[in-house]
Amino acid sequence: MTPDVEIRLKGLPVSPGISMGMLRVEARGCPAPQLRSITPEEIPHEWDRFEAALQRTEEELNSLRDRIQKISGDMEAAIFDAQVLFLRDSMVMKSLHKEFDRRMQNMEAVYYAVVQNFMEAMRHVDDPYLRSRVTDMEDVLQRVLRNMAPARTATLAADTQSHLLAAYDLTPSDTADLDTSCVLGLVTEVGSAVSHTAILARSLGLPALVDIPQLMLKVTTGQQVVLDGYTGVLILNPTEETTRYYRQLQAEKAKAYQALVEMRDLPSETRDGHRIRLAANVQFRHEFDAIARSGAEGVGLYRTEFFLLDGSSNLPDEDAQYRHYRELVERCAPHEVVFRTLDSGGDKLPFEQADPKEDNPFLGWRGIRVSLSRPDIFKQQLRAIMRASAHGRAAVMFPMVSGVTEVKEIRAIIDECRDELRARGEAFDEHMRIGVMIEVPSAAMMANVLTQYVDFFSIGTNDLTQYTIAVDRVNFRVAHMFRPTHPGVVRLIRHTIEAGIPTAICGEMGGDITLVPLLVGLGASEISVGTHLLPLIRFAIRHLDYGECRQMAEQALQASDSKTIRALSKAVAIKSYPNLFD
Ligand code: PEP
Ligand code: MG
Repeated sequence: MTPDVEIRLKGLPVSPGISMGMLRVEARGCPAPQLRSITPEEIPHEWDRFEAALQRTEEELNSLRDRIQKISGDMEAAIFDAQVLFLRDSMVMKSLHKEFDRRMQNMEAVYYAVVQNFMEAMRHVDDPYLRSRVTDMEDVLQRVLRNMAPARTATLAADTQSHLLAAYDLTPSDTADLDTSCVLGLVTEVGSAVSHTAILARSLGLPALVDIPQLMLKVTTGQQVVLDGYTGVLILNPTEETTRYYRQLQAEKAKAYQALVEMRDLPSETRDGHRIRLAANVQFRHEFDAIARSGAEGVGLYRTEFFLLDGSSNLPDEDAQYRHYRELVERCAPHEVVFRTLDSGGDKLPFEQADPKEDNPFLGWRGIRVSLSRPDIFKQQLRAIMRASAHGRAAVMFPMVSGVTEVKEIRAIIDECRDELRARGEAFDEHMRIGVMIEVPSAAMMANVLTQYVDFFSIGTNDLTQYTIAVDRVNFRVAHMFRPTHPGVVRLIRHTIEAGIPTAICGEMGGDITLVPLLVGLGASEISVGTHLLPLIRFAIRHLDYGECRQMAEQALQASDSKTIRALSKAVAIKSYPNLFD
């Protein structure tokens, strides 16, 4: 085998931190098999095992084809003919021989890597038919691996071993399911800073890198790597010197971060005494402990969809929701918890599969639209939140609102819920604050009218940016255009704040230390971010001068491009807290 040389791959850092260790490569639905080096004596045995697995797979596919042919006809059965062809594809076999000789690893691991490479190549071809064949390849791969496993078990790498996870992409539920006790970091070939994978990585405190071109062609399970989530580099086969450097950096960063955490009891106010509420964005129960540890003044955004759509087929009923919400409210008392009602659809977990399939899910059945079309489910959630409000301080807000009509409908439904709870004799806070998320440009434009119906706004800058610039935040082809400092977005933020009711920023923009001066200067009354980022944002706010931020924001509002606006905010940030940029 050729000695491993250090290779550096550039990606987009979406969750800060450094992690080091063994890489585990995983394709969705087909985890990488355990990797093992083999001796020259084992070579014939490996080929025998592989040939036996191919034969078994071929028999299975042939019998499946016969069955489907009887039930559905030739066309459907042809899928399995194609899979049989792929099973003994000459290019795959050639590549397998070469890689097996080169790597001297068990056949499962080599076959997995080779087929992954073919799948990746296929994902990039122009012809949509050929692209769709990736699923067939994955099917064949899974079958062969299953047939190579003795007693059909244990093809998976031991889950308990610490590793960094590499994947082409991760869905929000893939990420939500991660066992964080052994996953040290995430790297994906596609993705953007505001994809939900990135948001979840930050909330889990896992360093993460996305958008690494051809990642899946370059990595293998078992490889040693360093992930630098600050500068956006994945280092394969790091040298001793590189490892030493990163160990030291990791220790320094951890020390600096701990010093910030210890300031958790200091108020989040600027040097000239302007107070900003600093709250936490939360989505999982396992984050509840971290809220108080971070010094957050309660929760500014609780994304309830992760609790509601946790993979089981039924939504939790009103009582189960009430217990869950109550726990959070009690743990955060005396601070407030802002519950965001179910936000499903778009790139979120679907509430139910849309039928017929939506061509434009981001512009479709998403957020409040789902809730308003399912009043029974919506009311269950509202009543549960209202009942929880009797045990501390709760507020409720609604995702993806587009204008006044929806808010009037929401208010009428809230009134019905109040009547129902009164009739049942259930306690709730009659003065619970009601807010809307400002995520759709039309809602931002109507902010001054919406103030008649709600107590507060919370600007979801992730969606507000994507809907204002018309850029899909998870489409890697256009993700580079996703700029929250686009003048159009900044003006909408200002317009919303000027409407005159308390306005929070709960999108990822609030967690960007470069943009805190801009948000403070625009007049945001609250910033809500993941608990891991909170100590940094508190430090940033405490080193700012509100007057200076306001002046800079006025200049930013005159600027005509996103780069200039970012540069204006960055200049104030670097001057005010240079050490956060080290
Ligand atoms: C946002 O859009 O900015 C937001 C906070 O909501 P989510 O990221 O959950 O869509
Ligand atoms: Mg949103």
